[in-house]
Amino acid sequence: MRKPAVVVLAAVVGLSILPSPAGAEGGHVNLYSYRQPFLMKPLLDAFTRKTGIKVNMVYAKTGMLERLKAEGRNSPADAVLTADIGRLTDLVRAGLVQPVASAVLRANIPARYRHPDGLWFGLTTRARVIYADKTRVKPGEVSTYEDLADPRFKGRVCTRSGKHAYNISLLASFIAAKGEKAAEAWARALQSNLARRPQGNDRAQVRAIMEGECDVALGNSYYMGKMATNDKKPEQKAWAAAVTIIFPNQPRAGRPGGDALGRGTHVNLSGGAVTKSAKNRDNAIRLLEFLSGDFAQRIYAEQNFEYPVKSGVPLHPLVASWGTFKADTVHLTEVAKYRTAAAKIMDRVAFDH
Ligand code: FE
Repeated sequence: MRKPAVVVLAAVVGLSILPSPAGAEGGHVNLYSYRQPFLMKPLLDAFTRKTGIKVNMVYAKTGMLERLKAEGRNSPADAVLTADIGRLTDLVRAGLVQPVASAVLRANIPARYRHPDGLWFGLTTRARVIYADKTRVKPGEVSTYEDLADPRFKGRVCTRSGKHAYNISLLASFIAAKGEKAAEAWARALQSNLARRPQGNDRAQVRAIMEGECDVALGNSYYMGKMATNDKKPEQKAWAAAVTIIFPNQPRAGRPGGDALGRGTHVNLSGGAVTKSAKNRDNAIRLLEFLSGDFAQRIYAEQNFEYPVKSGVPLHPLVASWGTFKADTVHLTEVAKYRTAAAKIMDRVAFDH
């Protein structure tokens, strides 16, 4: 009776590159994801093919934190994926994630893109760039976030809500660089330069530039790729074609007053964590390891125009065409510390009014 069992096992091992029966050998892992199914499905399918671990993904647009809190120790979630440092740190603050020590994750992810105690791991980065109209904005007219608050941009700036996580993180990075007072002065001046009340998402700002409502806007880098290649909504190609991407706050010799402005472009990250309630902890760690590896990093880069955290993974050619840039070197845990202060500043300056 023993011999056939060995044969069967060998057959399973030999077939491991083909789709394996869900959960047949590796069990499963339950994933709560803020990242969209279209992006995650090919990654998770590949993970299951490779490991035999079945992934049950619950996609959440909002409310993941509340759900995890409500479920507490009984939560079925083993791992979570989010697309902003703020949401990762909210999970840490609520005590919903657990430390992970993994040599693979440490090797794949640079230290500044993971929590020092392994409470979360960045998987991709995205730059918060300036979109500028190709004709109405002269080359060099805007090169820093500070420029957007200059009086010469009065009535020329568009952005989504100041309360959105992306703008809160940007303002928090400003506090980390220059202190709260300077950050508030900047936010106030930026608000007074707005062409219209903050509204819409990042892409809507590019559309507004194309339609002549404003000349410059804040937005995440990957949206440019998504618009420029959007066959389902081809009108977005025209929006993207109207603007150039500017990576703000690049170091530059000979800037007046030294190069305090050359701290680098603010980057945010998408990432993941293992929940405190995880019943499939090992599988959750394997999933994060897989997502930080070459295969998955390449898919993130190709499908979503993001920057892989793992070095040596090629960028999408379009993303590469935007050129290289220096990212702000401040650790994102430092940025996250100032998110509450940043949100209060947005209130005080009545950013959205
Ligand atoms: Fe986004």
